[in-house]
Amino acid sequence: MYRSHTCGELRKEHINEEVTLSGWVQKVRDKGFMVWIDLRDRYGIIQLIFDEERTPKDVLETAQQMGREFVIQVNGTVIERVSKNPNIDTGDIEILVKNITVLNKSKTPPFTIENETDGGDDLRMKYRYLDIRRNPVKNSLIFRHKVGIEVRNYLSNQDFIEIETPYLIKSTPEGARDFVVPSRMNEGQFYALPQSPQTFKQLLMVGGMDKYFQIVKCFRDEDLRADRQPEFTQIDCEMAFVEQEDILNVFEGLTRHLLKEIKGIEIKDFPRMTYDEAMRKYGNDKPDIRFGMEFGELNNVAQHKEFKVFNDAELVVGIAIPGGGSYTRKEIDKLIDWVKRPQVGALGMVYVKCNEDGSYKSSVDKFYDQEDLKAWAEATGAKPGDLICVLSGQANKTRSQLSALRMEMAERLGLRNPEEFAPLWVLDFPLLEWDEESERFHAMHHPFTSPKPEDIKLLDTEPGSVRANAYDLVLNGNEIGGGSIRIYDKDLQSLMFKHLGFTEEEAKAQFGFLMDAFQYGAPPHGGLAFGFDRLVAILGGQETIRDYIAFPKNNSGRDVMIDAPAKIDNDQLKELHIKLNIQE
Ligand code: ASP
Repeated sequence: MYRSHTCGELRKEHINEEVTLSGWVQKVRDKGFMVWIDLRDRYGIIQLIFDEERTPKDVLETAQQMGREFVIQVNGTVIERVSKNPNIDTGDIEILVKNITVLNKSKTPPFTIENETDGGDDLRMKYRYLDIRRNPVKNSLIFRHKVGIEVRNYLSNQDFIEIETPYLIKSTPEGARDFVVPSRMNEGQFYALPQSPQTFKQLLMVGGMDKYFQIVKCFRDEDLRADRQPEFTQIDCEMAFVEQEDILNVFEGLTRHLLKEIKGIEIKDFPRMTYDEAMRKYGNDKPDIRFGMEFGELNNVAQHKEFKVFNDAELVVGIAIPGGGSYTRKEIDKLIDWVKRPQVGALGMVYVKCNEDGSYKSSVDKFYDQEDLKAWAEATGAKPGDLICVLSGQANKTRSQLSALRMEMAERLGLRNPEEFAPLWVLDFPLLEWDEESERFHAMHHPFTSPKPEDIKLLDTEPGSVRANAYDLVLNGNEIGGGSIRIYDKDLQSLMFKHLGFTEEEAKAQFGFLMDAFQYGAPPHGGLAFGFDRLVAILGGQETIRDYIAFPKNNSGRDVMIDAPAKIDNDQLKELHIKLNIQE
């Protein structure tokens, strides 16, 4: 028997008990006649004590030779500790050791395995198994497990069934590139890894499974942005015989359940907003509604004077920054530089200081009088003491620039409190999205998303303004889930493929199986998927999803620990019928 107890569970009640413990050596303090070792395992830390008087000589000597991260087994008696340590759960007691066995030695670890470590990101990723021994990482993984359990509990209680779907499949259109896997047995042919189980879950609905979910890996070969993983996990769900309202209710319930069970928070409001409203009010389809700073459109009150920049703009829009009225000239200049950074891309920024005495001082006083500026203050909700920041230009671009400024200022002003949770449904997304590069429409969600019935007639004439029965769940400014009511009619699905630029042959080659299935009694259905990694990170109050993944990839999609991706040898390539064509 390696252990009678864990390193985290012994307390005063156990005094005088004989115990056996196994774990890693966290720290050794050697006074010659006395040695202390902190022993660690997943459950905690406990102090071992060895001394000349009470410990056999050879045991004391072995203890003196212990290095950090050695794996040892000890056996001894629980005794009361002389100087108690209130920082650890076992701080009232210690183990007077009688026997010690070195189960395994360890090289000196490349970084300290403590809550605060001296190891940089790269080093910790290379030795992730050591990083996992540290509390912050270990606790994140345990936290993730708990969230997963609550998801399964809730959905199972609602009669959902977890069903696995295959990983070796054919392309699924979620808008990214596929990771492909060559087939040895089928010369020249490839599987694609699922970008999501989308088509399979729809087929499960045709199969009558009615309420499906799966906590599942998805794979998308995208240019990596910070905090995105090429393989990630979704809580994937689908339901049959439902309307949008039914789906929103179930997953509002799941979100409430998670916040309650995991965070102890009861969510009062679960507001809804259309995509159009989100874009107009926040310039963003995933607005953080924990704070105000709503957009005020100023076209009506700013385009009547001789200020050409505004008069030429499609949109003039501003926000009020609370307390910004006291910013110095230098601070405001810095803000202007910030919006002009290439990542934001504004050409400039007009500002209005709202003085405490009710007067206004702006960067465009030459063009606008106090009455004009008062109207701007009303439109943006600015109060005395605030700073109104105004951007102008092409509508979509300007909105997204102002949204970036809004988020930045909220961050700086500490308005994005990680312990406050504000979910929001964003509804009625556009069905199609124009892609400048390929000069054609793409499905904004995916090609199986149903247009709103009342908008179908616009498909031919105004495809860009057709709205979809598609929805996103936003939490604190993050999109944590998205889904849609699906098309279940073969003809409408064919029409969709046509609008997306598929020829009939292409559609048949890629999605023939789904179209076939739709001819055998497909029920009305819809669903959604939550991004599990992000959801866990937000609930955990951390910024990065990497912290909640045991073995994440780095920003270039590499696993630096196992060194993947890697070359394969010529025999393997040959077996797969693959010839490399790499330009030097
Ligand atoms: N398959 C979709 C996605 O991965 C989710 C859904 O529509 O259910 O975003």
